[in-house]
Amino acid sequence: MRFHRPLFSTLFSSFTHFATRARSPHQAALSASITSRPLRASMSGIPFLGALFGSKSSSSNMTYPDQRSNDEWQAILNKEQFRILREKGTEPPGSGKYDKHYPSEGVYACAGCSAPLYKANHKFKSGCGWPAYFDSIPGAVTRHEDRTFGMARTEIVCSNCGGHLGHVFKGEGFDTPTDERHCVNSVSLNFTPEDKTGGDKA
Ligand SMILES: [Zn+2]
Repeated sequence: MRFHRPLFSTLFSSFTHFATRARSPHQAALSASITSRPLRASMSGIPFLGALFGSKSSSSNMTYPDQRSNDEWQAILNKEQFRILREKGTEPPGSGKYDKHYPSEGVYACAGCSAPLYKANHKFKSGCGWPAYFDSIPGAVTRHEDRTFGMARTEIVCSNCGGHLGHVFKGEGFDTPTDERHCVNSVSLNFTPEDKTGGDKA
């Protein structure tokens, strides 16, 4: 325990320094109670910070309702779907089957778990080489901070299975109601012409 002594003696000497500055034991107690007040106030911020860091660190290993294992996904997805949905890959720009696909109605569902994600009327022409949507079906898409490749981006995944969809970009100046662009891999999607989500068709 000998090597603990320098730390202990440093703490002890700073405590005694504080205590000897007070003129009496009563004053020492008084000043201790005064200094504890701002301490308590500053500590009230700590749970908030804890929640902030907690949500940040859990974002990449968040759990989703659909808990299939990689083996189970591999059994139902083709290689390219598995690479993009489960390994966060990206299809080459301009290559996707839904890049230049503009139906008047219908739903784009997750190619992994079939959860409805986007409606035909969310899609717009961005010219970026991937399907672009200005909004999603409420709650269908979950966002995560993505700092890979030296960029600060917002990854979007299916809220039901955590399957990687692409990224969302904001404030690019597109003439859409949200000025957001959900840049989604076609491989992550399956389109069906019927809208069974029961939402508006406007
Ligand atoms: Zn899914």
